[in-house]
Amino acid sequence: MNKPATKDTILPKEITHFVNGSEVRGNSDRFGDVFNPALGEVTGRVPFATEAEVSAAIEAAHKALPAWAATPPLKRARIMFKFKELIERDMDKLSAILTSEHGKVLSDARGEVIRGLEVVEFACGIPQLLKGEYTEQIGTGIDSYSVRQPLGVCAGITPFNFPVMVPMWMFPISIACGNTFVLKPSERDPSASVYLANLLKEAGLPEGVFNVVHGDKVAVDTLLNDARVSAISFVGSTPIAEYVYRTGTAAGKRVQALGGAKNHLVVMPDADLDQAVDALTGAAYGSSGERCMAISVGVAVGNVADKLVEKLAIRAKSLKIDNGAEGNPDMGPLVTRQHLDKVSGYVDKGAKEGATLVVDGRGHKVESHEKGFFIGGCLFDNVKPDMTIYKEEIFGPVLSIVRVPDFESAVNLINAHEFGNGVSLFTRDGDAAREFSTRIQIGMVGINVPIPVPMAFHSFGGWKRSLFGDHYAYGPEGVRFYTRLKTVTSRWPTGIRKGAEFVMPTMK
Ligand code: NAD
Repeated sequence: MNKPATKDTILPKEITHFVNGSEVRGNSDRFGDVFNPALGEVTGRVPFATEAEVSAAIEAAHKALPAWAATPPLKRARIMFKFKELIERDMDKLSAILTSEHGKVLSDARGEVIRGLEVVEFACGIPQLLKGEYTEQIGTGIDSYSVRQPLGVCAGITPFNFPVMVPMWMFPISIACGNTFVLKPSERDPSASVYLANLLKEAGLPEGVFNVVHGDKVAVDTLLNDARVSAISFVGSTPIAEYVYRTGTAAGKRVQALGGAKNHLVVMPDADLDQAVDALTGAAYGSSGERCMAISVGVAVGNVADKLVEKLAIRAKSLKIDNGAEGNPDMGPLVTRQHLDKVSGYVDKGAKEGATLVVDGRGHKVESHEKGFFIGGCLFDNVKPDMTIYKEEIFGPVLSIVRVPDFESAVNLINAHEFGNGVSLFTRDGDAAREFSTRIQIGMVGINVPIPVPMAFHSFGGWKRSLFGDHYAYGPEGVRFYTRLKTVTSRWPTGIRKGAEFVMPTMK
């Protein structure tokens, strides 16, 4: 039941699905609370779709498919151009929605929207990207061409930490390629996706091409098992990524499932220490560590550790932590109380397992936000590879320093970790940098760059248990994922009839 609105309470709004071009109220009796994490208040109720509701969204996408797939790529691109203009127009509104449900600082939310927008800009070039290959005269009087065609209905299942950017890694390219789409966004910050759906409608996208259904496992399982869905893009934690990959591929779908991470930043003894400290501080504590490309492990090589930890401790203690919607703090709250408890639990465990807790952010309070889900920056030194805080993804503002004697040990440490999303090396030595980028078993590598997230015209993905499937997200890999190749070999009647041939055709 909604609370009555008084001057002291916020009336939770009911979040709608978006199906066949319209906002649709949920029918289900299952709902989730959506919070403003800085205030600790429930601000919305998100319906958890039933199988029938998800099926209706799939049906809308299925019906819209033939006409959309047959729409010339240039017309699809024009809708993307218009969509880009509308996002630019509403940049502030979208960023504010994002901050109000996720908690990240407004300037960071704006950065997220821009990184999503860049994928739309890439998708605007779809006529060029879909151009096929043509060979004249593969045999006498015979030509051959290859084209990429859409897959059909595609689905996206996305995490809480980038409620605008990660869906926009998926649907602009998928739709531009001629597919229709059903998005199941995170139930923790669902409003931005409905806003985007309305912008697509305003941009002229036909009904049913883009649909949003909210929900949990029931919605995800329906998408995974419905034969009308051809492909699934997933981004989230590793156990769910693996489940989605296995279930989706067993049902005959094409699946890309991006999972969790434990990203290391190696500081070599010759590195510019102040630059490395700036990099570690921003990459570990930005967005309260709730980024899949956040740096959660600093690897201090040789004699660099004491000075590094001393400088990092000063920075971690002086972080400005506040409501992300006000002023311009360094860090906002975590997304939910449950997540705050989980992150604090990891800090308890790290201290218990024998790591040195240099800066303890647990119990951090922000004035007039006593119910907010805040934690301060945490810094551990002397973390060992067998400790839980090293092995597992914490997804909060907790930086662990591991001390290693040399470059070789740093490479071996990182290559032995189960995750392989991002990594970074800080050094002035070109040889070391080259050796590192060649040997490291990680999908995205930064050299003196802390968060090497590829631009929209490259592609994003990790190795090992950070990605299940063969395709990275967005960029040229996105186009390959959302299309399949067809090769046509053609000959026109010439009057020469040779009769039936029973041997493999070869060039003579
Ligand atoms: P999550 O795995 O809990 O949720 C992701 C999605 O899966 C959500 O839409 C959720 O509703 C759904 N889901 C959750 N439990 C499910 C279940 N049992 N069955 C079916 N579906 C289920 O992830 P999260 O907490 O929202 O996001 C944080 C995680 O995402 C972190 O692990 C982070 O590293 C990862 N992430 C990875 C990348 C990447 O590119 N590799 C990017 C962003 C986030």
